[in-house]
Amino acid sequence: MPDSIPQQSPRTAQDATHFDVLIVGAGISGIGAGYHLRQQCPGRSFVILESQDSFGGTWWTHKYPGIRSDSDLYTFGYRFKPWTGAPIATAEEIRKYLGEVITENGLDDHIRYHHRIESAAWDSEARRWHIEARRSDTGEVARFTCQFLYMCQGYYRHSEGYTPEWPGMESFRGRIVHPQTWPEDLDYSGQRVVVIGSGATAATVVPNMTGKAAHVTMLQRSPTFFRTGRNAIELADELRRLHVDESWIHEIVRRKILYEQDVFTRRTFTEPEKTREELLSQVRAHLGEGEVVEKHFTPSYRPWRQRIAFIPDADLFKEVAAGRASVVTDEIERFLPEGILLKSGKTLEADLIVTATGFHLNALGDIQFSVDGKPLDFAETITYRGMMFTGLPNLAWVFGYFRAAWTLRADLVADFVCRLLNHMEAKGVEQVEVALRPEDAEMKLLPWIDGENFNPGYLTRGLHLLPKRGDKPEWAHTQDYWNEKDALPAIDLEDAAFRYR
Ligand SMILES: Cc1cc2nc3c(=O)[nH]c(=O)nc-3n(C[C@H](O)[C@H](O)[C@H](O)COP(=O)(O)OP(=O)(O)OC[C@H]3O[C@@H](n4cnc5c(N)ncnc54)[C@H](O)[C@@H]3O)c2cc1C
Repeated sequence: MPDSIPQQSPRTAQDATHFDVLIVGAGISGIGAGYHLRQQCPGRSFVILESQDSFGGTWWTHKYPGIRSDSDLYTFGYRFKPWTGAPIATAEEIRKYLGEVITENGLDDHIRYHHRIESAAWDSEARRWHIEARRSDTGEVARFTCQFLYMCQGYYRHSEGYTPEWPGMESFRGRIVHPQTWPEDLDYSGQRVVVIGSGATAATVVPNMTGKAAHVTMLQRSPTFFRTGRNAIELADELRRLHVDESWIHEIVRRKILYEQDVFTRRTFTEPEKTREELLSQVRAHLGEGEVVEKHFTPSYRPWRQRIAFIPDADLFKEVAAGRASVVTDEIERFLPEGILLKSGKTLEADLIVTATGFHLNALGDIQFSVDGKPLDFAETITYRGMMFTGLPNLAWVFGYFRAAWTLRADLVADFVCRLLNHMEAKGVEQVEVALRPEDAEMKLLPWIDGENFNPGYLTRGLHLLPKRGDKPEWAHTQDYWNEKDALPAIDLEDAAFRYR
């Protein structure tokens, strides 16, 4: 990286289109950000720049068989738009819902597709961000300036998934596919498929490939916790039978789900053994008491240390019970022309290998950031409650919840950003930056997330790229909805941690 990045010339700055707020990404966070800006900051101009050719982010990128949410849509949906379908939804249903939010709120005119942002340069003199985006359809560079940069780019690289390097991969005679870049023409009829991984993606892909494939094997290094149940919420169905208004149903069902999640999360800490047994008994109900559950579905970690995927209608377990899918818990020694050689010495023969092995973390959308000509080292910054960062003026990032639905936090962060923008307007200031206060000088700095309590692979691999957090509430990143739902709206914007100019 160069020591300094040249500032844009006055001519290019003049060519730029100016908006008060520039939102990066038209996924669930970016569309929600647009909605909240319209509602809460009606006078502000804004644009949403999206590198892909349509909206939805995660729900547009992923096209593997069966792609669905594992959160319920009552809480993964926005708080302002009722969800009226079954709680677990397909990508298509989620996109339909997001499309309705866009048209019902006149957001279409604000979104510009095919705009991949390549650089963002803060200029303290002009008190503006200078943004350069490359158009993927024409190759042209489009320039923008904005007062506030609202980062809704998610947390992983959309162009490619993460596939580890295993010896002998190039010798494999079949096809290797990552679920994130699922080929449209992939025909696996009658094929022997091995799916590597046992997270939510693998657990979705496996039962959705079994009908067509000859057999599907889920190969995992270690077992994962799953929850299962009917893809329905009785209370919602009952309220619908009573013709209760959908906006009430949405709110009531959200409260019920959030209450139950809160109780369950607390119990995983206070009664880890009991909650573990409860989860395992759900699996035993479908796969019996034998070795399959013991060996392949009994994790060694505490429940909730990793996100617990929901298996609607127990489809994965049913396919395993029917013999159309199986699970192998082992490690990969190397790839062979005919499949995978395992450390146990066994060979798994395959025609197609699906690597459901996770994501590449990309903290700031692979955008080259600079502040007054100096390249930004994001890892050197300290986060203000997982939303703003020291040394980065007029910028917020939506990093949602992992234990609860992501969107709960997207709504909360949007309230905060809108309140901050309105506060700045009322004060007549153009710049806000968070900075450590004198009493924070000796504060202990910690990694972005607490790896003891939550440690998915992509975060552990990329932790060195992410900002630090502190051990005081202002500088914490709690990932705790039940704390933040009260704490974020109560933030004192005149606290000394906020520096205005
Ligand atoms: C398969 C899968 C299933 C998931 N299921 C759930 C679930 O059930 N519940 C849950 O809570 N979470 C789930 N998650 C996490 C999920 O990513 C988030 O919940 C949520 O969809 C993220 O929304 P987002 O808008 O913040 O980011 P994303 O969905 O990642 O969207 C970001 C958008 O920004 C665009 N972008 C990025 N960089 C740039 C750039 N430089 N210039 C222009 N545009 C850019 C991208 O193209 C993308 O469209 C899941 C994730 C995956 C991968």
